[in-house]
Amino acid sequence: MFRKILIANRGEIACRVIATARRLGVATVAVYSEADAGARHARMADEAWPIGPAPARESYLVGERILDAARRSGAEAIHPGYGFLSENADFAAACRDAGIVFIGPPPDAIRAMGSKAESKALMERSGVPLVPGYHGADQDPGLLAREAVRIGYPVLIKASAGGGGKGMRIVAAPAELDAAVEGAKREALASFGDDRVLVEKYLTRPRHIEIQVFADTQGNTVSLFERDCSIQRRHQKVIEEAPAPGMDPARRRSMGEAAVAAARAVGYVGAGTVEFIAEGDAFYFMEMNTRLQVEHPVTEMVTGLDLVEWQLRVAAGEPLPLGEDRLGLRGHAIEARVYAEDPTRDFLPAVGTLRHLRQPREVPGEVRVDTGVVEGDAITPNYDPMIAKLVVWGADRPAAVRRLAAALAEYEVVGLTTNLGLLRAIAAHPAFAAAELDTGFIARHAAALMPAGAEAPEGEREAVLAAAALTVLADRRAAAEAAAGATGDPWSPWAAANAWRMNGDGYQDLRFREGEADPVTLRAHPRPDGSLRLDLPGGSVEAALSEDEAGALLRVDGVTRRLRVVRRGEELTVILAGRNHALLHDDPLAPPRTEAAGGQRVMAPVPGRVTRVMVAPGDAVAKDAPLLVVEAMKTEITLRAPREGRVAAVRCAVGDMVEEGVELVGFEEAAL
Ligand code: ADP
Repeated sequence: MFRKILIANRGEIACRVIATARRLGVATVAVYSEADAGARHARMADEAWPIGPAPARESYLVGERILDAARRSGAEAIHPGYGFLSENADFAAACRDAGIVFIGPPPDAIRAMGSKAESKALMERSGVPLVPGYHGADQDPGLLAREAVRIGYPVLIKASAGGGGKGMRIVAAPAELDAAVEGAKREALASFGDDRVLVEKYLTRPRHIEIQVFADTQGNTVSLFERDCSIQRRHQKVIEEAPAPGMDPARRRSMGEAAVAAARAVGYVGAGTVEFIAEGDAFYFMEMNTRLQVEHPVTEMVTGLDLVEWQLRVAAGEPLPLGEDRLGLRGHAIEARVYAEDPTRDFLPAVGTLRHLRQPREVPGEVRVDTGVVEGDAITPNYDPMIAKLVVWGADRPAAVRRLAAALAEYEVVGLTTNLGLLRAIAAHPAFAAAELDTGFIARHAAALMPAGAEAPEGEREAVLAAAALTVLADRRAAAEAAAGATGDPWSPWAAANAWRMNGDGYQDLRFREGEADPVTLRAHPRPDGSLRLDLPGGSVEAALSEDEAGALLRVDGVTRRLRVVRRGEELTVILAGRNHALLHDDPLAPPRTEAAGGQRVMAPVPGRVTRVMVAPGDAVAKDAPLLVVEAMKTEITLRAPREGRVAAVRCAVGDMVEEGVELVGFEEAAL
């Protein structure tokens, strides 16, 4: 076994590899970009070496920098994780040439499987079933059109060098073909520097089923069974599970054999995944990923194995720890990918700071959270917006689905938009419980899965408003008490913050805004026992908020609920039953929402999306003139001129995701 390895990756996968290395007594070296100084993976490793600026092109993708860090730190091997350099044959070869072990397959195997078109040709020769299609080198438009007719519409155009769903186009009819091919080629050229495309039959209701394979340097190749990754958005995986529902032993055997044949055909070594698309009883080879997959934990959960340990052993020249006859499946595992993205905006990645993060409690063998972030970290546009992978295990599928729903309910994220609502809706959907899986699941059930589709549970709105009001009042009381303490006269009636009035019943009015709805004004009447009578839009309630070791407990008219309130300035997020409710407290005394530094710059007060820009460089504006609109927490925030002046620069455009504190508009020094 190696003494020391370098992990050429970041985030959850780097952390996950470090954990296994540590368990095996292998020292670890992390690498990090400028954006990742102090990141979880860099702190977790025994050493961490800087490799350059934030953009991956200048750091995580620069093989020479990584090899240099490996040489200087004395690492004997490099684990590439997934993404970045993991499927880069030249990098694998450069490692070999530098005398450092690449923990992955040989460069030739990566190369052979690197192109969807070439790997298909190879699989065809090895007798692995393929989707009817054309994957030839001749890209003549007339030929592609004839092939599409031969295959039969609808067809799917894919980039031969593709990955990540880039360059993919569904074509329903011949008239749309040329435009689709053109678009796919443009995208393929931009993403992969190679504009070749392939055409294949578009299956209308397929499942994505993939086989985990493992091979050692002694010629043993085994299948570690399948994963069903049919729950997808934009042709990319969101929820994966093992085993695949409805898989019978005969089919498992034939798919496993096809996958092993695919691996053998390229002299494979290490962990790999052979992806199939399945419809009815048929299954077809799509591609082979020559690395560890994001979703490998579900296989680990049902086989009881540690695939990273297997990778390290195989790379160190050991035989596979177990042969085919000793491998078995136990129970059912499901993984949900928690992403910073907005399902209601076509899953556009979101950026921002994880102002509040509570992850589900891990239970060995049953609930596992693989993550690379901690509270306070930022999700930036530089890298993949995945926050974590939640993996659960149950004795059977229904038990796993229940555990998934329960663990998702424990998740609390404030500060950026996530797909947690969607994941919870999927976990709760009867079609998911019934394992009615295919790649169109999310699109087909979109109406029920998106936030607007969910019906608010009884009492939710009252509870949210009451929790927000009680929090604001408690904070006010604490501030007044602190101030009274400072004046030295805690008994002064002027220091009392409980709306005490000389004559009779006192009250305080609080105004909250929630999304685009009209503001709501609540009247709060304090009661001697510390509770409140709250006049809500639907009537009056008795409400109290208390804290114990498990968090906050809200009581409304005798009904108690667990919840959490995260407050930052006048923004409050009430997390109730796994749902975030964002409210803005309209405080007439609060400072204005434009943060201007020295009157020269206007910065984003919260992370959000620029929805309107009303000024251009050179414009003269009056004090308080609207400059631009940022949408955050479903609320539009108008940023206004801090003073009269001339706009020097507008540093954002409509549609940009902006980080909190980023300068959006600059002013000229001199006043008008
Ligand atoms: P990428 O490597 O770009 O992610 P894949 O070839 O792995 O692309 O395909 C990604 C997803 O696209 C699949 O999981 C499936 O949902 C869908 N897909 C791919 N090929 C077909 C097809 N022939 N018919 C229908 N859907 C397909």
